[in-house]
Amino acid sequence: MEYRKWYDQDINTSLLGFGAMRLKTHDGEIDEEKAMALIDYAYYNGVNYFDTAMPYTNGKNESFLGKALKRYPRDSFYLATKMSFGMINSREEALNIIDKQLANLQTNYIDMYLLHALNKNSIKRVEEWNVLDIVERWKQEGKIRNIGFSFHDDYETFIKILDMYNWDFSQIQLNYMDTDFQQGIKGYYDLEERGIPTVIMEPLKGGKLAHFHESIEKIFKEYSDDSIASWAFRWVGSLPGVKVILSGMNEMDQVIDNIKTFSVFKPITIEEEKRIDQVKAALYAIKAVDCTACRYCMPCTAEIDIPRFFALYNMFSMYGDIDDAKWRFDQLKKGSSMIDKCIECGKCVKQCPQKIDVPLQLKKMAKIMDFLF
Ligand code: SF4
Ligand code: SF4
Repeated sequence: MEYRKWYDQDINTSLLGFGAMRLKTHDGEIDEEKAMALIDYAYYNGVNYFDTAMPYTNGKNESFLGKALKRYPRDSFYLATKMSFGMINSREEALNIIDKQLANLQTNYIDMYLLHALNKNSIKRVEEWNVLDIVERWKQEGKIRNIGFSFHDDYETFIKILDMYNWDFSQIQLNYMDTDFQQGIKGYYDLEERGIPTVIMEPLKGGKLAHFHESIEKIFKEYSDDSIASWAFRWVGSLPGVKVILSGMNEMDQVIDNIKTFSVFKPITIEEEKRIDQVKAALYAIKAVDCTACRYCMPCTAEIDIPRFFALYNMFSMYGDIDDAKWRFDQLKKGSSMIDKCIECGKCVKQCPQKIDVPLQLKKMAKIMDFLF
């Protein structure tokens, strides 16, 4: 197993981290026997970093992970969990949450404590409720050992958060397709420059970088027999500031393949980087619409959220992930008119710098969505 030292801290984490978020359920309950087997396989093959959070698996994830990890010596692994602002309504609730989390996790300390999914809105709560004072106090009391944050917003917000506190670590979304998404690779380099250890989430872009259309997979397969997923793990693991790569493993074949990738970790070579560039180019070439999400076309006369529909369309055409498309579609139902409401007024077409024939593309998309749903 590849281990990474957290700069000058006395912390050595396995580069592969076990993300418990995606554990399989039956009737809303975690399939414990199956999940324990995955965790055991990972642990006995050298994984020493386990990540959970309050809301995962409808609030049941922390308790399950506590039960699973209780079977191993406490000093043989690092445990990460988070303060999730969607589940806390006041400073008082924030103050008391740690004791509940420690009880759930059956431990008297948490190694890595994150402020969960920080963005422009949640940092207002961090400031209003003086959350950094709260976690600092917990650290002094020995309830938590390292303070970090996970992040989902733009680069400017990322820098603002970095400047807020002397963070022990940070958790960001990064993979070879998302180098310009959220804080992007630019944000990673800021972490490296500041000596802040980086934990990676979504290295496979929610599983999208584990399988492609056959013609695209061929680009990797002609070069080696390694799994498609291993290329994405190796790409992000080749960045020296990356200390943990979380993988939300929920099937034994994924755990076995990941252990294989990380047991004798090989950084990406220049030749392999070229292959990855070819795969990226091939994926962009099958993108349905050349939309840059600039939103100049908005507001739409019929209140359709055009850029978000195009994002769904592109994701589906590039990765063919039906579950993701359905999830995005459900999210869109909450804040946008449906695409069949387009009255073809043409306002958006005039404003689009990419000269996209929006009504035509929406019609094409509607046909695919009819087929899908
Ligand atoms: S053409 Fe359709 S999508 Fe474009 S602004 Fe008009 S109603 Fe909206
Ligand atoms: S203006 Fe064009 S490129 Fe920009 S978001 Fe709208 S459709 Fe996409």
